[in-house]
Amino acid sequence: MTPEELQFPYVDAHTHCPEEGDATSLQIHSLHLTEAMPEHFAGRSFASIGLHPWQAEDLTEESLLLLEEKLLTEPRVVALGEAGLDRVCSTPYSKQLHFFREEVKLADRLDLPLIIHLVRAQDDLVRLKKELRPHSPWLIHGFRGKPQQAEQLLRSGFYLSFGRHFHSESLALAYGQGRAFLETDDVPNLSIASVYSEASRSLGISLEELREKLYAQALTFFPRLLNEGGNY
Ligand SMILES: [Zn+2]
Repeated sequence: MTPEELQFPYVDAHTHCPEEGDATSLQIHSLHLTEAMPEHFAGRSFASIGLHPWQAEDLTEESLLLLEEKLLTEPRVVALGEAGLDRVCSTPYSKQLHFFREEVKLADRLDLPLIIHLVRAQDDLVRLKKELRPHSPWLIHGFRGKPQQAEQLLRSGFYLSFGRHFHSESLALAYGQGRAFLETDDVPNLSIASVYSEASRSLGISLEELREKLYAQALTFFPRLLNEGGNY
């Protein structure tokens, strides 16, 4: 690894890969309620925890309490999520909406950014953001939408995270506004370095420039990364 890689690590904004990365990458592991708490996380491994719309059994008032009083207060937890809306899964949509609204309030109370799983509910999400006027920033992960969709979301103040498959114009729009992140999500054997290479080619910029910019952005978007002393 080069000194630059250590100074400006790759940022994996959303991963379900259980392994810790090496010193060249900073990872935000997306955990569900039932997964082990990241007590063993050290170095550049951090976590986000939330109520995923797929886990219908987790969408309860007790889970919200557990999140607020225990899980989200862990120092290695730097975001709430993934939370979200999914019109394709079997969890009743009204139930998803109720708990998503609760998580939005929770993220604001705890000053945590929100990581969002979104499937075929973009208009609802945009409406909700207008209505709720959250002060915490919202990041839609795994964004594969077309530039028109990206434009609508960027106009509404969203951040977008891109993985293995993305629309290059959408990435360019988000990156140009300082609101793009990159991720590996749950794709086996996908390295964040390869997602960065793909993105830097698509954007026509150097890997170094991309790494430096996204790392600086991550320190602002996930303020708890700095609370951890910056000594990771
Ligand atoms: Zn995910």
